[in-house]
Amino acid sequence: MKSYPGSIKGRFFLWSILITAAVLIFLGISLYVEIRKSILGSIEQTLHSKIQILKGLIHEEHGMIELELAEVVSGEYSVPRSGHYYKVLLDNEVLAASPSLVDEAFDLDSGKLFSHDPALQQRVSLSVGPAKEPVMVVRHDFPLFDAQATVYAAQSLSGSLQLISRFRMFLFAAIGINTAVLALAGLWIARHALRPLEEFSTHIEKITHKTMDEKIDPAFQAEEIRKVAGSFNAMLDRLQHAFEMEKSLVADASHELKTPLSIIKAQCDVLLQKDRTKEEYTRALSQINATSDAMKNLIADMLSLARIDAGILPASRFRVVSLNHCIDRAVKLAEFSAGEKHISVHKNMPAPVQVRGDEDVLTEMIFNIVDNAVKYSPEGGTVDIALLPDNSSVQIEVRDHGKGIRAEDLERVFDRFYRSDTARSTDGTGLGLSIARAVAESHGGTISVGSQTGRGSRFVIRLPRHRA
Ligand code: ADP
Repeated sequence: MKSYPGSIKGRFFLWSILITAAVLIFLGISLYVEIRKSILGSIEQTLHSKIQILKGLIHEEHGMIELELAEVVSGEYSVPRSGHYYKVLLDNEVLAASPSLVDEAFDLDSGKLFSHDPALQQRVSLSVGPAKEPVMVVRHDFPLFDAQATVYAAQSLSGSLQLISRFRMFLFAAIGINTAVLALAGLWIARHALRPLEEFSTHIEKITHKTMDEKIDPAFQAEEIRKVAGSFNAMLDRLQHAFEMEKSLVADASHELKTPLSIIKAQCDVLLQKDRTKEEYTRALSQINATSDAMKNLIADMLSLARIDAGILPASRFRVVSLNHCIDRAVKLAEFSAGEKHISVHKNMPAPVQVRGDEDVLTEMIFNIVDNAVKYSPEGGTVDIALLPDNSSVQIEVRDHGKGIRAEDLERVFDRFYRSDTARSTDGTGLGLSIARAVAESHGGTISVGSQTGRGSRFVIRLPRHRA
């Protein structure tokens, strides 16, 4: 199972911070890039328009090419280092330059190329201006009156870049504040969302073995917990059932042991009252002996059942077992009582069959069924055992022709300590079939019975088959 350290709240908090920060950073960067691009784009557009204006001002008069300075020099170009510059070259000779360009050393071609449009013959570069400020320079080359003209228009980016950097700082702050606020909101949501789980756990903590019937009402639970509450109630039901079984086993066991103990005690009291004849001693002691045997069998059966219940048969300890061998061993154990009643036991095992399991308990399971078949058969009867394998499973069938089981008893014969009224005259503990069923189930199998009173019974054990 995967293990998750830390609290759900903590993980929720961490994840909300990470996801929120990632989303905001992505949005912030995209916004920043877009805004920077559009500001620089609009400056480039302005410079392009200025170049067009400058181009329109160049004219020829008396064979001289001139720029109509009057119009251009007024305004931003007239202020020295205003941050707005122009320059017009004709065959590399300066035709005109803006008065703002007082520093002749400022080389308008010295910047880094930003973009180039060959169709428009226009190059945009980013340079460092006379006041060491960033400047965008747009250069346009075109033929003019059999000469080659070049027009530069430049503009300082200081103001715009300052705006962009202020915007960047605002973005950082906004991302930080938003991340913190959303993470706190996440923590708050997690705390509220998990409250039903905490209430559920408080309820569970209060449940003891005495209050197992106090179920959790799924109707009052949050939708997500309703299913867990349902499963939890079902688990409580199973536990309660197992608990009740345990309690009734202890109660039944003490009840069943009380009767033989009282018999033994009564016999001893009678013997101790006065001197008895040898025959009286022998009779009483034989009865004590028989009663002790019955108690021994009962205790042995109870132990078997308790061991199986306690999960003493983990599948990890199962081995490959020959069912033919188990049947042989079980029949051998039943031979004595069968012989006493002249009952013949027939085995029909056409093929060797293997299962995965515990050989001793499987033998005990088969013996319990065969022993019952012998016990509840009349003198001289027959018991038939058949081993019927198919591809994935195997069936062990035990048939007798004895008194059979009444329809109303069929359901109950596998219950602990259940003995039908007609069986009371026969020795037994009422645990043999409970043990057989527990063994079959612990091996992934089933056990069933069909019977007709006066005609006999047919017990069928089905187990998963092992194939090499
Ligand atoms: P018991 O020790 O009484 O045989 P089991 O658990 O083995 O206890 O069987 C429970 C009851 O089922 C028996 O008391 C008996 O009434 C009935 N039963 C079991 N096997 C047979 C059988 N082959 N024929 C008739 N009744 C049977």
